[in-house]
Amino acid sequence: MELYRLLQQQGFGSRKECRKLVEYGLVEVNGEVAEDYRQAYQLDDIDELVVDGEPWQLQSGPIYVMLHKPDGYETSHKPMHHPSVYTLLPWQFGNLDISAVGRLDVDTTGLLLLTNDGQFVHALSSPKRHVPKCYEVTLKHPATPELVKHLLAGVFLKDDNEKIAADQVEVVDEITIRMTITQGKYHQVKRMVAAAGNRVMDLHRLTVGELSLGELDEGQWRYLSAAELASFG
Ligand code: URA
Repeated sequence: MELYRLLQQQGFGSRKECRKLVEYGLVEVNGEVAEDYRQAYQLDDIDELVVDGEPWQLQSGPIYVMLHKPDGYETSHKPMHHPSVYTLLPWQFGNLDISAVGRLDVDTTGLLLLTNDGQFVHALSSPKRHVPKCYEVTLKHPATPELVKHLLAGVFLKDDNEKIAADQVEVVDEITIRMTITQGKYHQVKRMVAAAGNRVMDLHRLTVGELSLGELDEGQWRYLSAAELASFG
């Protein structure tokens, strides 16, 4: 594929913009400044691509990443009052249709998956799929045995005529619980805790399925490994 088309496919902009990148000498392929935007490459020919001084990992298929979402970011392409989580990712992803798998509230921190694989989003968001998501929840009032019982037995949320229950609830300390849910309803944890007579002060997502953040700092992102991706079956 011609270099400018390859750059376009990697999210670097329109054909014209990608031609200009090469013309301005901003593209290095395997350590050499590229001179001809029409030069043809296979993805396999390229061990190293640097664009405008930044190394770029070539994408040969759909992209799957996890982000450690900080407080104060909206999970939206069109944020209303806060910056978007997408500003924490490479800008090229914006040209590659990356979207979050579900949403975290603006004040929720933790593990957020993002991809441009629509089928993956659909499969993981399906209510039939029951992907467990574990949250660390800081409460306003103490975590009593009654609260735990109530969350496990299930609560009624407005507009739902069926009870919705947590899968697991573990008390961490006086005001902290770890709660696992398998659904993905709007403000689900906050609404369930409120319906059980307490209030969420802080919410942090620890895991989605078998994935956890590990060493990833707040605001940082990384690609999922093949094993992590395969864990969703
Ligand atoms: N439940 C909530 O209430 N908020 C989130 O961000 C995620 C789950």
